[in-house]
Amino acid sequence: MNQSVEEIRQRLPADWEALRKVYDLLKKSDVFCVSDNDVKIVEFVQPAELKKLIDLTISDDKSLNEAEILSLCRKVIQYSVKTSHSRFHNQLFGQMDPYGLFGSWITEALNTSAYTFEVGPVFSLIETEVIKKMCDICGYANGDGIFAPGGSVSNMYALVLARYKVCPDIKAKGIFGMKPLVLFTSEESHYSFKKAAHWLGFGTDNCVTVKTNSQGQMMAKDLEAKILQAQEQDKTPFFVNSTAGTTVLGAFDDLNEIADVCQRYGLWLHVDGCHGGSVLISKENRHLMNGLERSNSLAWNPHKALGAPLQCSMFLTQETELMSKCNSTEVKYLFQQDKFYDVSYDTGNKSVQCGRKIDCFKFWLMLKARSVNGLGSLVDHAVKMAKLFVSKMLQREGYRLVQDSFLYTNVCFWYIPKAMRGQEETSEWEAKLYEVAPKIKEKMIRSGSLMIGYSPLSYRGVGNFIRMIFTCYPVIDEDELDAILDEIEYLAEQD
Ligand SMILES: *Cc1c(COP(=O)(O)O)cnc(C)c1O
Repeated sequence: MNQSVEEIRQRLPADWEALRKVYDLLKKSDVFCVSDNDVKIVEFVQPAELKKLIDLTISDDKSLNEAEILSLCRKVIQYSVKTSHSRFHNQLFGQMDPYGLFGSWITEALNTSAYTFEVGPVFSLIETEVIKKMCDICGYANGDGIFAPGGSVSNMYALVLARYKVCPDIKAKGIFGMKPLVLFTSEESHYSFKKAAHWLGFGTDNCVTVKTNSQGQMMAKDLEAKILQAQEQDKTPFFVNSTAGTTVLGAFDDLNEIADVCQRYGLWLHVDGCHGGSVLISKENRHLMNGLERSNSLAWNPHKALGAPLQCSMFLTQETELMSKCNSTEVKYLFQQDKFYDVSYDTGNKSVQCGRKIDCFKFWLMLKARSVNGLGSLVDHAVKMAKLFVSKMLQREGYRLVQDSFLYTNVCFWYIPKAMRGQEETSEWEAKLYEVAPKIKEKMIRSGSLMIGYSPLSYRGVGNFIRMIFTCYPVIDEDELDAILDEIEYLAEQD
C-alpha cells in the first residue's frame, strides 16, 4: 500500500536495523572470496527470461516491506556475476581485497563528498597523503593528482591539462579558429583516447594511431613520422599517450624511447598505466616502467590488478600548480576563500566533478593492511603465475600463443581442439579456429565454472583468442593453473 509520511517516519529505525541482514545475505549468497568450485560464478539466463524472474517494474503506489525487499535483493544477487569467485578472470579486475571493501562500506555509510575539507576532513587528508606517496613512487617530485571516476576520466584529465599547458586561453575562449590539436596513441592503446578526442572537441581524426611492433609496443619511429605528418598538415601536435600494460596484450611501451621523441618535439607525455601501473609498487617488475619520471602524467587504476573495489583510479601529474589553475572556477558557495582553515585541502577545486566519491580511502586502507611492498609482492606473484601458466600450456598439446612471451598478467592464446589438430592450416582452418574461443566462452558461462574473456586483434588481422588475466586476488597456486587448463580443455572438447 501507499505509505504516508508518518508511516515512513515510523518505519525508518527498523529499516536501518535491517542493514545487519544484508551482510548475512551477501555471505549466504557466496559473494565473498569464493574458492568453492561447486559454487557457480554466474547463473546465466537470457535477458527476456531474466525480466520474468525479477519484478523490475516500479509501482506508483505499492511499497514493499522489509522481507519482500530482502527477497528481491536475494534474487538480484543470485543472478549477478560473482566477481570475487576465484575462477573469475574475465576482466582486468577480479577478486577484491577485503580491506578495500571495508573502506568502501565505510565511505558509502558516511556518504560524503570529496570536494572540501569541511565535509570530508579525514578523507581530504588521506587523499593528499595517498597522492603524495604515489607521486614519490613515480618519481614525480612535487607532483599533484586526484582520484577520478575511472581510467577513461583520468586519461581525459591528462588531455585537458596538456591542452591548458599549450594554450591556457582555451579555458575562456574555447578552441575556435585555431589549428587542430593532435594527440598520438598506439593501435594497442585503450579506446578512451578516441572517445576523449570526441568529447573534448579535438575530433577523432586528430587522435592519430601509431603502429606497434610484434610485442605490442608503440614504435618510436612511426610516432615521429606521424608527428611530422601532422606538422606538414599544418596541425599542432601536443600530446602523446604511452601505454604501460595494454588492455589486450599487456604490452609496455618503452617509456624512455617515447620520452626522447616527446622531448624533441616538446610534447606532453602521458602514461596510461590504468592496467599496468601496479608494477610501480613491485620489486621484480618495476623496471617495465623505467622512464616514467620523464613523463608529465600518469593514469593508474588500483581497481584492476590490485583488487581495490570499483572504482579506484588515480590521475597523477608531475606539474605542481597546473591542475588547480586549469580546473578551478570561482565557486563562491563551495570553495569560499575566506574559510577559517587551509583551503588548499579543498581538493574539489582541482576536479571536473562537483560531488565526488571517496575512492582514496579503500586504497589507503589496503596499503595500511598490506604495506606497499606487501601489495607489490602480490603483483609479482600474479606475474609469476602468468609466466608459469604459459610454460604449462606449452607442455600440453593444443595450445598456441598469440605472441612468444608476455611481460605482465595477460596471457593470450588459442586452444586448438583435438579434431582440428594436424591439419593443413588454410584460411578456412583459421576461420574455424577463431570460432573456438567464443564457443568455449559460451560453455564457460552456461556452466558457471570459469569466466575468461576473448578478443580479436583486428589491426594484426588476427581473430578471436582467449585472454587470461591474472590479478593479485585470488592469490593462486600452481595447482590452480592446471585446474584452469583442465577446465578449458574439458569445456572445449565437450559437445
Ligand atoms: C581499463 C583501461 C582503461 C580504462 O579504465 P576505466 O577505469 O575502465 O575507465 C584505460 N586504459 C587502459 C590501458 C585500460 O586497461
